[in-house]
Amino acid sequence: MSMKEQSRIVVVGGVAAGATAATRARRLDEAADIVLVEKGPYVAYANCGLPYFIGGDIADRAALFLQAPAWFWARYRVKVLLRTEVVEIDRKAKKVRIRGPEGESYLAYDKLILAQGASPLLPNLPGSDGPGVFRLWTVPDMDRLHEHLRQQRPKSAVIVGGGFVGLEMAEALRKRGLDTTVVELLPTVLPNMDPEFGRSVGRELESNGVQVVAGAQVSAFLPSEGAVVLSDSRRLPADIVLFSVGARPELALARSAGLEVGPSGGLLVDEHLRTSDPDIYAAGDMVEIVHRVSGRKVRIPLAGPANRQGRIAASNAVGVAMRYPGALGSSVVKIFEATVALTGLTERAAREAGLDVGVAVVHKDDRASYYPGAKELSLKLVYRRGDGRLLGAQAFGRAGVEKRIDVLATALAGRMSLADLAELDLAYAPPYSSANDPINMAAFVGLNDISGASPIATASELKAALGSGDALLVIDLRASDAYGESHLRGAVNIPVDRLRSRCEALPRDRPIYVHCRVGWNGHIATRMLRQRGFPKVVNVTGGYLSILAEEGFDLVSS
Ligand SMILES: Cc1cc2nc3c(=O)[nH]c(=O)nc-3n(C[C@H](O)[C@H](O)[C@H](O)COP(=O)(O)OP(=O)(O)OC[C@H]3O[C@@H](n4cnc5c(N)ncnc54)[C@H](O)[C@@H]3O)c2cc1C
Repeated sequence: MSMKEQSRIVVVGGVAAGATAATRARRLDEAADIVLVEKGPYVAYANCGLPYFIGGDIADRAALFLQAPAWFWARYRVKVLLRTEVVEIDRKAKKVRIRGPEGESYLAYDKLILAQGASPLLPNLPGSDGPGVFRLWTVPDMDRLHEHLRQQRPKSAVIVGGGFVGLEMAEALRKRGLDTTVVELLPTVLPNMDPEFGRSVGRELESNGVQVVAGAQVSAFLPSEGAVVLSDSRRLPADIVLFSVGARPELALARSAGLEVGPSGGLLVDEHLRTSDPDIYAAGDMVEIVHRVSGRKVRIPLAGPANRQGRIAASNAVGVAMRYPGALGSSVVKIFEATVALTGLTERAAREAGLDVGVAVVHKDDRASYYPGAKELSLKLVYRRGDGRLLGAQAFGRAGVEKRIDVLATALAGRMSLADLAELDLAYAPPYSSANDPINMAAFVGLNDISGASPIATASELKAALGSGDALLVIDLRASDAYGESHLRGAVNIPVDRLRSRCEALPRDRPIYVHCRVGWNGHIATRMLRQRGFPKVVNVTGGYLSILAEEGFDLVSS
């Protein structure tokens, strides 16, 4: 076998994107000299697994280390330089200056792949530089926290930031027995999802003993008093504080080398993940990529995109042309026994992008309702009203959540519409789904809205209509005992089976909003009334469950 002439590929950063890039480069080019430079003490470890070690779900610390430097050499002939930082890129001379255990030296490259990730933000507050303050980004961060929990036995924790990692850590610290509070600046946790999902997650946390303080800002940590002070002077018990308030792309090296940064604040790369220097590629949390639905330049700091970008950057670096299509931001997080997930655009993001947005919500069992163990899941589809093209989806529940979101992520990648989703032929048997999967059902809801057969309004649109002062009628279609327990002030209770006999007394000149518990009887009622000549009937999508998930309604019992 004749081998290509040897070229040198240097990869900077040895975790998700970097480790993938180095090994992929070898699989494509047996002749290259490949060096992986990592400033930390470990390569190829599972940073996504760190919260689960703290929480005790992963008992064996060694399981977090996917591969050691010796393996990289034995299997791939990739030379790993640990505890070695690339401190300068000399683009003209095509070499990098490295600083490691043996001092400083230069490493020449033919192609350079940057996979430096991001650095967690640490707010500069009184007390934030003292002991008892943590972040969770790397294995040393995890070890430090783990040892502190073991030796100091703190009783209470405040987690600042209610994003994915913050919530995983809330569960982990609660499982370790700490009184745990999550403080989130925005009005709900998981602020990258629509607020009703953040509220469902907040309730789930609270029911598992985690306190949620949303719409609040931490102003100081007082370790000697075991307290955190909020900007409104409230105090929360906190022997320790964990900051999880986001991360900034690691760009100092790239900037000082004069590489271009994009408008979203990530390193600019083209569709081949090539930076503004044709011999330098980049991948992972540090780059800016295209959102596959909106087409906008965004940063999506997630492990899946980082791994696939590493693979593509390496392919291009060794001369095998590959295009990166962008990402959807599909993500999932476990909240004790519940799961919440999203893909594509939220309703808020789609509206901010100026799209004509439709929203369909179903609350439906994850499997046949009669099959033991069925659990209700909430699924929201966001679509373009004109042609029904799917824009995004979110789901929350105790089973089957990630399966629906993965199907819908695939549908987004295939640019599918509601009509395609309605006909998706998904595997069915009672233990797994219903003959019409929740995805099919949500698509039916959206299609009936678009066609005008059964128009829908979201709970927040109902709230706006009620607040507008316009004369309208709200009919609660649930059984009278459910209505008696809790209902919208002013709503008239007509259980769906009595609607036919009572509809002649209803006004034809006013908008009528009907709702049941989940939306299905509302659809039946809408069809019934529209066929009887009531032109302004609208079904509240997701029914009373969606009304309960929205804030600001006037609810009463009778
Ligand atoms: C606790 C935690 C949980 C997470 N959970 C999930 C999850 O469940 N799902 C998900 O999709 N994503 C998750 N993520 C995000 C995911 O881990 C990141 O998106 C992914 O690791 C990014 O990969 P990367 O290669 O770009 O950067 P990283 O994996 O961060 O690797 C970058 C590496 O570059 C090194 N480096 C930086 N500068 C230099 C330099 N000058 N010289 C040498 N080395 C350098 C750094 O030391 C670092 O090791 C989680 C992240 C954390 C921290």
